[in-house]
Amino acid sequence: MPRFFLPYLGLCALLLLPIAGFSQAHTHQAATPVEFPDIPGYLTLTTDLHQHTVFSDGSVWPDIRVMEALREGLDAISLTEHLEYQPHQADIPHPDRNRSFEIAMEEARDHELILIHGSEITRSAPMGHSNAIFITDANALLAGAPEVPFREAKNQGAFIFWNHPAWYAQSPQGNPVLSDFQKARIRDGELHGIEVINTTDYSEEALELALKEGLTILGTSDIHGLIDWDYTEKGNHRPITLVFAKARDAESLKEALFAKRTVAVYNGLWVGREEWLQPLLRASVSIKEAGYLPGSQILKIVLENQTSSDLLFENTMPYTFYSSSPVFEIPSRGTYTLQVKTLEIRDSLELQLKALGAYTAPKEHPVISWKVVVPAHPGN
Ligand SMILES: [Zn+2]
Ligand SMILES: [Zn+2]
Repeated sequence: MPRFFLPYLGLCALLLLPIAGFSQAHTHQAATPVEFPDIPGYLTLTTDLHQHTVFSDGSVWPDIRVMEALREGLDAISLTEHLEYQPHQADIPHPDRNRSFEIAMEEARDHELILIHGSEITRSAPMGHSNAIFITDANALLAGAPEVPFREAKNQGAFIFWNHPAWYAQSPQGNPVLSDFQKARIRDGELHGIEVINTTDYSEEALELALKEGLTILGTSDIHGLIDWDYTEKGNHRPITLVFAKARDAESLKEALFAKRTVAVYNGLWVGREEWLQPLLRASVSIKEAGYLPGSQILKIVLENQTSSDLLFENTMPYTFYSSSPVFEIPSRGTYTLQVKTLEIRDSLELQLKALGAYTAPKEHPVISWKVVVPAHPGN
């Protein structure tokens, strides 16, 4: 052994001692976790419920998915391996299709990450791909006619959603086509949600379907490689679903998904029903400061964005702005200062802004109101 290896070995032994002692307390925190405020009455859970590992056509071991989720500060994930598509099976045979979940759980349980047992039912069009999550046994979903796994998943108490409905490989126009098969699944209570955002694709047509058919709105990464390579190192966060739950546990998450209390998010793009986007946006921006510029009727308001998304707004008040475009962005975790020409000194103002990055329906943005109270000032 060359002599220079000796000090190396000594150093390694020193390093290993404290690491071994901390094995139960290790963390996977990152500098820029996703952040969203809770809304009145509910906790806001950040979730990515569609992901792959080497146990189907992904490229990583299941524990990496858990660590990626922790690095981004997510509350819940699901590993949804293709049941029928198994390109690595010659190298990684696994007759028990629950293994991906079980291996991930060994890592997740140390960190209070909510891990949801799921699988992707993978069929050709017109059936398409669907995720069944909150299942109890993936093996039982494996065989049978197309409707059999849906019936079985429903019997297991699963929440089932239509994946990438606009995927051009199955729908060449890049638009979702609701088949008779899927209509029957919705009718029979075997299809409850739909992805309106899958990877980087937002489908307005999928949003329209969600609203028309009463389906839960979801956004997912459908990650196969690394979250870092596909999203983080490009300055993005992965697409996620915000779920408004009564508590931070799997049962509450499931209840909220069935109750359609969700908003799909990809960076500054937020898609959801009006009743959930409204309180979320209101809680996401806080009034840091308000006061009149000396000797003027111009009200200075400092807005602070509490989230990890940049938020784009347009003024919809009768009052116009001084020294600002009517369209402006509040950067993630940053502030923006408005100067509103209120024409007379007021002690409060109903600030009204249209959220241009948020959609309640195709091409429809919510308008959000905040009550701005102006503290009394001797100069005014
Ligand atoms: Zn798929
Ligand atoms: Zn997938």
